[in-house]
Amino acid sequence: MTTSAAPTAQALSQGALRELRRRLRGVLVQPGDALYDEHRRVWNGSVDRRPALIVRCDGAADVAAGLAFAREHGLLVAVRGGGHSFPGHSVCDGGVVIDLSPMRGVTVDPETRTARVQAGVLLGELDAATQPFGLAVPAGVVTHTGVAGLTLGGGLGWLLRKYGLSVDQLLSVDLVTADGDRVRASEGENSDLFWGVRGGGGNFGVVTEFCFRLNPVGPTVLAGPVFWPIAQAHEVMRCYRDWITDAPEDLMTGLALRRAPALPLIPTELHGQLVVGIVSCYAGDVEEGEKVVRPMRRFGSPALDLCRPKPFVEHQAMFDPSFPHGRCYHVRACDVAELDDDVIDTSIEHVEHIGSPHSGVVMWQMGGAMARVGEHETAFGLRREGHSLNITGATETVEGFDAEREWVRGFWSALEPHHTSVYVNFLMDEGAARVGQAYPTSTYGRLRALKRTYDPDNVFRLNQNIPPT
Ligand SMILES: Cc1cc2nc3c(=O)[nH]c(=O)nc-3n(C[C@H](O)[C@H](O)[C@H](O)COP(=O)(O)OP(=O)(O)OC[C@H]3O[C@@H](n4cnc5c(N)ncnc54)[C@H](O)[C@@H]3O)c2cc1C
Repeated sequence: MTTSAAPTAQALSQGALRELRRRLRGVLVQPGDALYDEHRRVWNGSVDRRPALIVRCDGAADVAAGLAFAREHGLLVAVRGGGHSFPGHSVCDGGVVIDLSPMRGVTVDPETRTARVQAGVLLGELDAATQPFGLAVPAGVVTHTGVAGLTLGGGLGWLLRKYGLSVDQLLSVDLVTADGDRVRASEGENSDLFWGVRGGGGNFGVVTEFCFRLNPVGPTVLAGPVFWPIAQAHEVMRCYRDWITDAPEDLMTGLALRRAPALPLIPTELHGQLVVGIVSCYAGDVEEGEKVVRPMRRFGSPALDLCRPKPFVEHQAMFDPSFPHGRCYHVRACDVAELDDDVIDTSIEHVEHIGSPHSGVVMWQMGGAMARVGEHETAFGLRREGHSLNITGATETVEGFDAEREWVRGFWSALEPHHTSVYVNFLMDEGAARVGQAYPTSTYGRLRALKRTYDPDNVFRLNQNIPPT
């Protein structure tokens, strides 16, 4: 549990605060304000930090003003998009939160197939703006995640095999640097910075707006989970491994091991039962998709088959109820090259000891379009991984949280011989060496040099930090 410390707002002069407030279009929130607790809360309920100031930004000028104030007063800076950082990097004790969440504009141009997206937009809001045109930006699988943090780290989701990562759709970003400069980065302008923000996270500045390429998607896709009892897990996972070997790129899948959630779509007799679930999203022709998915859904004796044609936006929201705001979460992640027998056996063995009904593991299939982008084209460089694993321990309150955390760590450690790397957006606070594992060695060196250019004082250090060389 991250505990709170006394904010240092009292130490700031009233005159300086008045001047900051005068400069802002947005709102300055301080301890004692009615909405302070609401605005310092983040997705992970185990994070409880008390910033001195929350700058609720309404535009790039507010971002620059908030950053300048923090630098003048030597305050730590946290940057908040959707507030979904696993370790809660978007809130700090005693510092300044640059809160982009009021900036929610999305402008879609169906002619040029582009979208301009402000930094506080959530994934569901982006889909809501683009899907009426049958278009989408490949992004993540939970609609209340922020576009900003997800994109800057890479952005894995249901369309990664068909169209690539979120970063692969970026045409430009508008950014405020640590010095308060406003810059645009694209292939043609500040191209070094553009390379770095496509995977290097929030290390180089505060992005205020993204410009994405849009891709035709749906609006109907063939998608959803099929569940089998855990007793069939070994066979199901081996069949899955073979099934996805030559899967077309229209198909993206994830494999989950957990207790079946108590959701209305799931029969009550399954609630709380250990299951293996395979979730598919076929983003091409639905009839073709039926043929592709058939061998897997017919394997063994599924307990429940919820895979059917549905609106893409409905599928995008499928995981929402499993990851609500406010629970205590502990996550450990790793990439593995393949689901070999030992990965399968080890995973099932650990899942059989799950305590909480909310804990589990998801194994994301990689490959396809994301793997066709060159390793050095973007800072996100781990493009040839087989599967990205996300082991999550979650409890309603702090009660039982320590035990779940131990379960997660034990499971993750048991898989250590198979770890190849890790997706930077799935890291907790795990230290510099682990951040290094999220990048190819030469990429990490290049990121450190870029950090020296754009943020030599490491103003943006509350993140998966790239220290300047
Ligand atoms: C429920 C859930 C589901 C998820 N699903 C996926 C998924 O499907 N695919 C995937 O790839 N990832 C997924 N993630 C991981 C997610 O990508 C990261 O947690 C990401 O950081 C969330 O972005 P955010 O804006 O919501 O977070 P925040 O906590 O607001 O930001 C995280 C960090 O990003 C940086 N940042 C945020 N906004 C800006 C900005 N405007 N400018 C500069 N830096 C900024 C800051 O360093 C900040 O600390 C998921 C996370 C959660 C909690």
